Amino acid sequence: MNAMVKLVGTNSAGHLGWVVKYCSICNRKLVVGNDAIYSCPKCSSVSNLHYCLADYKRLHGKCPHCKSDLVPI
Ligand SMILES: [Zn+2]
Ligand SMILES: [Zn+2]
Repeated sequence: MNAMVKLVGTNSAGHLGWVVKYCSICNRKLVVGNDAIYSCPKCSSVSNLHYCLADYKRLHGKCPHCKSDLVPI
């Protein structure tokens, strides 16, 4: 499920650190592991698109580009 997430900032204690994404619609800052973040399994492999919970609801859980179901990351 999390294979697409690129982890950065891992420290020696094994804490994964904060991975920050930005909602591709409202540009809200989204923290992986802290905020609900959704992405399209098809489009995320070609373009790094992420959506916040509010936009996920607005989109009815569908990718605006290919209409696939968005999945939480
Ligand atoms: Zn948003
Ligand atoms: Zn898509």
